[in-house]
Amino acid sequence: MNTYNKILLSVDLTVESNQVAHRAMNLGAKEIHVIHVIEPLSLAYGGDIPMDLSTVQDQIHDQAKTHLIEFAKTLNVPTERQYLVFGRPEAEVHRVAEEIDAELIVVGSHGRHGLSLLLGSTANGVLHGASCDVLAVRVGIAEDEQKN
Ligand code: AMP
Repeated sequence: MNTYNKILLSVDLTVESNQVAHRAMNLGAKEIHVIHVIEPLSLAYGGDIPMDLSTVQDQIHDQAKTHLIEFAKTLNVPTERQYLVFGRPEAEVHRVAEEIDAELIVVGSHGRHGLSLLLGSTANGVLHGASCDVLAVRVGIAEDEQKN
């Protein structure tokens, strides 16, 4: 079976990202690209908070940048293959995947019981409308519980 040459790894930068990355790295791709999307506070809260959120937004951006650089370093993913963007995660992941011509998008998904909980909302959103394959890696469970 052919392997995927170019993978876009989508991470929320929580501790679960390590599990997702581990799976992506084991697929033997030539190129791994990593994306983290920052949801603008204005999108999340709209006009509900009557104050200037730009300072907080800048802090969130700076923290995410540091975190993404550290995370990518552990995977040996060079700077030019790291994407830190603003927007809605699903839409931005689709956009960047198309831009770089990714063959596979790898996301995390919460592996709980019951059909409705099979996919988390972001994983679900990424799956629908993607123009390439999508791998949803079960997270939030011990790695040794995952079937190989
Ligand atoms: P969910 O189940 O909706 O929490 O989605 C979990 C997975 O979606 C994470 O493991 C990531 O792969 C992806 N994801 C969630 N939020 C983001 C984000 N802000 N940027 C990039 N990927 C994300």
